[in-house]
This record gives sequence, C-alpha cells and structure tokens, in this order.
Amino acid sequence: MITNSANVNIDSIIKNKIPAVGIDLGGTKIRAALIQDAKLASEPRQVPTPLGPDNIVQAILQLVQDFQKDHLLAGIGIATAGIVNCDTGDIIGSTGNLPGWTGTPLKQVLESKTLLPTVVDNDANAAAYGEASAGHLMHAKCVCMVTLGTGIGGGIIFDGQLYRGAHWGGGEIGHLKIAHNNQRLCTCGLFDCWEAYGAGIGLVNTGKELLRNITADQTPLAAKLDTLTTYDISQAYKAGDMIAKKAINTWHEHVATGMVSLAHILDPDVFIVTGGMADLVDFELLHEMITDRCLPRIGEGLVVQNSVLGGMAGIIGAGQIVLDLLLQKAGKN
Ligand SMILES: [Zn+2]
Repeated sequence: MITNSANVNIDSIIKNKIPAVGIDLGGTKIRAALIQDAKLASEPRQVPTPLGPDNIVQAILQLVQDFQKDHLLAGIGIATAGIVNCDTGDIIGSTGNLPGWTGTPLKQVLESKTLLPTVVDNDANAAAYGEASAGHLMHAKCVCMVTLGTGIGGGIIFDGQLYRGAHWGGGEIGHLKIAHNNQRLCTCGLFDCWEAYGAGIGLVNTGKELLRNITADQTPLAAKLDTLTTYDISQAYKAGDMIAKKAINTWHEHVATGMVSLAHILDPDVFIVTGGMADLVDFELLHEMITDRCLPRIGEGLVVQNSVLGGMAGIIGAGQIVLDLLLQKAGKN
C-alpha cells in the first residue's frame, strides 16, 4: 500500500507518467478522477456534497486517500465554485451553492494531511484550462471559454496561462452589463448583467416577456407562464412553436451580445461554448451573429466551437493545472 507520495520527484512524474487527482466540487456532488496528459486516467468517483465546510474537506480528503491506497500521486487539483486566491488556495468569495465555504483554507489543510502539492482554482477557470489542454490550444494567443448554464461562467487563457485578475475575479464574464434601465435583476444583486439574458434564467425571462398578452390558443406555453422553464421552451421549439422559436432566437442575440464585447476586448483565437445550455446553441447562427457585429479584423478569423470535454472539463483541468505547475517549477515545461 502506498500512503505517502510526498517524495515523488519530478523526473519520476514525467518518466512514469504519474497522475494527479482532479476534483470537481459542486453544490450537489464531489467528483474525482486520476488525470494524466489532459485525460482521465481512471474511472471518475463521486460522493454527494455534504453540508458544511469541515464535512466537505473531510469528503475530499477521503477521496484522495482512497486513490492513494492504489496509486502513486503527483498532486491534487481542485476545481471549486466561488472565488479562489490561487496563491494561498483559500476560498475568498462565496457562492450560494456552498454555504459557509468562504474562508476555508483548502490547500493548507489538504497539503498538511496528504503531503501532496495541491492547487485550488475556480471551477470555470479549471474547466477552461482542461478544454484548452485537451483541445491542443495552449499555444493559442487567447482562448475564452463561455459556460452557459443556470448562470454564465468563463475562463480566459492568454499564452497558455489562466488570467485571474488583480483580485482573483478575472473571467467573471456573466456580470458584463449588456442593457440599461434596470430591466432585469441578476442573482448578484446588480441589474442587466449578461447572465440575466444569456443564461437559462435569461431564456426563461425572455420567454415570459414574449408570452405577456399572448393567449393559450396562440401557444400552449401561455398556460405555463408562471412556471416556465428552459425545458418547456426547448420542447415547444422542437414542436415548431413560433413563440418558442422567437425566444430562442432572441436568446442567441443575447448570448452573441456578450461575446461581441468579449471579442473586442480579448481578440481571441477561439471561443469554447459549454454548459447545460450549450445543447440549445445553433453554433452556425451564433458564429454568424458574432462576426456580423465585430470589427472585420476581429470577427473574420474567430472560431466558435463546442466543448471537447463536456462535464469532465473541471476535473481534467484541475488535475492538469497541478501537473503543469510541477513541470514549470522544475523548469521542464
Ligand atoms: Zn450579475
């Protein structure tokens, strides 16, 4: 049984392809897998996310120690919701999904208990890193990942390095302001953030606006006005409902609006669009909407593509961040 791999040296990590553990901590589950070469090197394991920071840290520790029973490990990479100080590995910004998580010294606790080098990063940053690594985009000038889900998350990579900002809040693209006059309240407490239009809640808001003054004989969606969901709209869209079609088309316009602003700031090689709402994206239409609204020099070469890793991007990215960091520290990358 191998219980302590603290003395694994960097040459051995390279020569023997020793994996890291990648961990994705979400509001409902914690998933973990061995990672090597920006790929899964084991079947993922998962446990429900327990309540409270102490129990969460204990659950993460247990997952790592289970892998340590059978494998030599290079390090631990953790992707978590919230804002993370990547130097200290402390959670410094709260998230509604993980109450009480702010202030947790996650890196310090895990390193002291496992003796393994540990990296903690924001989940969207880790996912962007995973996508860029697996998609052979680490030599691109700029990769911008846009996660369209309940909210909008993002990760920005310049010259193979994540951009984390001056206060660890870089890439919080969901809160770009895309409208005026306080039309839609965002979950963050501000008005007219991009995610109030381009995320799942945005599509629902757009659907509700379109359904005002529409009667049930015009669309079956009218009867669902108070309880409308993205699923209702997507099902109605597939059935050819005109209001749903208009809602989805307007939603594409809203998604494109934020991406046009990002394109003019970043001039990226690639936008990677992922998240639960990416299934509703017509990539050809979105690409056309963005390039039509961009300066030609920026829009002409712009690529807009789907995720290559899907839901595994956070785990793979977190593991790959720690592997690459070890190589960098040893001057081998
Ligand atoms: Zn906001």
